Amino acid sequence: MALYANIIIDISHEKLDKTFQYKVPDNLQDVLKVGQQVEVPFGNGNRMNTGYVVELTDTPEYEVSRLKEIIGVVEGSIAIESQLIALAGWLRRNYGATMNQALKTVLPVKQKTSAKKQRMVRLALSRKKAEEWLAVFEKKHNTARARLLSNLMEQSPLPYEAVTRKLHITAAVVRVMEEMGILTVEEQRTYRSPLGEMKRGGKKPILNEGQTAAAERIWEDFSRGERNTYLLHGVTGSGKTAVYIEIIERLVHSGRQAIVLIPEIALTYQTVLRFYQRFGERVSILNSKMSAGERYDQFERAKNGELDVMIGPRSALFTPFAQLGMIIIDEEHETSYKSENVPRYHARETAIERARMAGASVLLGSATPSMESFYHAVNGDYVLLQLKDRIDKKPLPTCHTVDLREELRRGNRSILSEKLQELLEQRLRSRQQAMLFINRRGLAGFVSCRACGHVMKCPHCDVSLSQHNNGNVVCHYCGYAQKLPFVCPECGSKYIGGFKAGTQKIEEIIKKRFPQARVLRMDFDTTRSKDSYEKILSAFANQEADILVGTQMIVKGHDFPNVTLVGILAADLSLHVSDFHGPERTFQLITQAAGRAGRGKLPGEVVIQTYSPEHYAIELAGKQDYGKYYQAEIAYRELLHYPPCGHMLVMMTASADEMTAFLSMELLAKKVRQAQDRGKLSGLQLIGPADAAVAKVKDVYRRVLYFKHQEYQTLVQIKDVLEQFIFRHREFRSVSVQFDFDPMNGF
Ligand code: ADP
Ligand code: ZN
Ligand code: ZN
Repeated sequence: MALYANIIIDISHEKLDKTFQYKVPDNLQDVLKVGQQVEVPFGNGNRMNTGYVVELTDTPEYEVSRLKEIIGVVEGSIAIESQLIALAGWLRRNYGATMNQALKTVLPVKQKTSAKKQRMVRLALSRKKAEEWLAVFEKKHNTARARLLSNLMEQSPLPYEAVTRKLHITAAVVRVMEEMGILTVEEQRTYRSPLGEMKRGGKKPILNEGQTAAAERIWEDFSRGERNTYLLHGVTGSGKTAVYIEIIERLVHSGRQAIVLIPEIALTYQTVLRFYQRFGERVSILNSKMSAGERYDQFERAKNGELDVMIGPRSALFTPFAQLGMIIIDEEHETSYKSENVPRYHARETAIERARMAGASVLLGSATPSMESFYHAVNGDYVLLQLKDRIDKKPLPTCHTVDLREELRRGNRSILSEKLQELLEQRLRSRQQAMLFINRRGLAGFVSCRACGHVMKCPHCDVSLSQHNNGNVVCHYCGYAQKLPFVCPECGSKYIGGFKAGTQKIEEIIKKRFPQARVLRMDFDTTRSKDSYEKILSAFANQEADILVGTQMIVKGHDFPNVTLVGILAADLSLHVSDFHGPERTFQLITQAAGRAGRGKLPGEVVIQTYSPEHYAIELAGKQDYGKYYQAEIAYRELLHYPPCGHMLVMMTASADEMTAFLSMELLAKKVRQAQDRGKLSGLQLIGPADAAVAKVKDVYRRVLYFKHQEYQTLVQIKDVLEQFIFRHREFRSVSVQFDFDPMNGF
């Protein structure tokens, strides 16, 4: 029940901020929903207008006597905007945001310059008539007219620009020929395709047994009207993309559209081409390099029915397809599916909600499913489909796990183990390629012992402690701190400290050790300029280099048939990120990196270098045993009530004044603790407050407080109460407060 509704009259999207408040009449108070289209009196003349409900509230923002009343709900089909506005309402509720922030997430911002009007010159005669005129012009030496006509006979229409600039025809000549009825000049709005020139065609692979079974299951359900969330768990190179394409093809035949989410880093020419070969101009892409206007154009094309398939990162989820049939999320375990801006939504959960609204299904795919998805599959919330073999039964690579402590004991202090050096030498001799992967994630400074592998952990939270400049090691969940010890508390060795190794350093080491090798490096620095990413990938694919050194960028979905060796230089780095996802990230990265080896005719080998070979994530990644890994990991999560076995909410206060950031957080924590003391919020666990992992950004100080509870919706209620509290108290004027549910990237 709500008394007032905030309404957008015009979704010309520049004015998303401008909403008008209306009274909800008695007969609508229980039925009105966010997203619904309503009729309202508008302006001085009270002209009848339609608008969309974007927010329902019990708090009037204006003097109540001056508010007008909603006339009624517009019946009939729900426009796609309604659905997206309703989705914005869901985002706001479940992740925390203002309604405007939520609306801007789902509706693209229109830019006046975006829609280019292109003028085209079109031949208006039959071939025969055109030939007759051409003869006339040539005879009269009307060379300009003859030139334009003969060009139009070859290609029509021609862009007006090309006629004047390239053919050097004056506007006057065009006008005269238009008056003679030889040609027409037309204006058309063009929304450019971002794909440029790609070739269609290409062979369609015949799906193997496993692929067929997966595709049939999904398609049969769909045809029967059954909507599900599917998890396609297929080892690397098992042909998941071919399954997606098969299903989309059937969907498109039945008049439905599909959205395919792919992490931006894997959205390469190679990948897009596979879709283009099947769907041609009916497929489009989004990426972060596009301007707001270009993105708007692609959304317009989708809305106008010009497209069947949209491929892109997270934000492609909001493509305004009217007959959406399926949302596919490839590499669904990727952290980039969690938004780092408010609202901090997860694309997987949001896709499931959008699919529910649209009557669509969701298909998640991965070789290393997230704990969340596999947990849901095991519990029967998702339908689990598996591809157990690589295409053509190619073997998975052989893994060698090297204990770096052992190397140190034998006197090898290089970052390259003896095993890796030996295998690299072999590959160079036999002209096969190798990839060396240094895992940069989590380099935030965990402290470990190079002699025994001991890592310093928080005694309360079981996450790694981080080294700070002041010589302390600190927990980013609860704030626990201690002095950095001089010797290892486990073995007494002096080799204890922060772990450091960069791609550039490794490139130097490789060049020194193997002077004959041609080495390419791919990391944040070498891919900063436009296209450099694709250039490095294609140079390596063309075998212009023997060894590719890189960060996680190189492990995503690339297909290099001649790569038969993958070296993972420090598998531990991601194990000790300062949150509980360490083992999960590590298992994923090792499995994905190993998946790059042996995709062609020759079998592959993998070297995993580590200080903790006995850690279950590393051991089981080496054995490529997802099932066992999942069992171990879920037991750990259950023990500590970490997601997906329970939920977490992190709240951050930020202020340019350190004391304000600190005190405002204390005030909020106190408020929650008082509620707990009154016997409310049973089952809630509070952790902190503490400094955020990044405690200061651009001179703004940040404090965090963690909440753990079994029920997501309880955390949503806590957020709502705190939001109201913050809204009502002046102390929070200069404080920004943000919420993040089931955090993945941290503050
Ligand atoms: P994944 O997405 O599971 O890593 P891909 O779909 O990229 O796997 O498939 C791996 C390779 O196998 C690709 O080069 C693809 O063209 C090829 N492929 C996929 N399915 C088949 C098939 N049924 N027959 C032959 N080749 C296939
Ligand atoms: Zn030690
Ligand atoms: Zn702690």
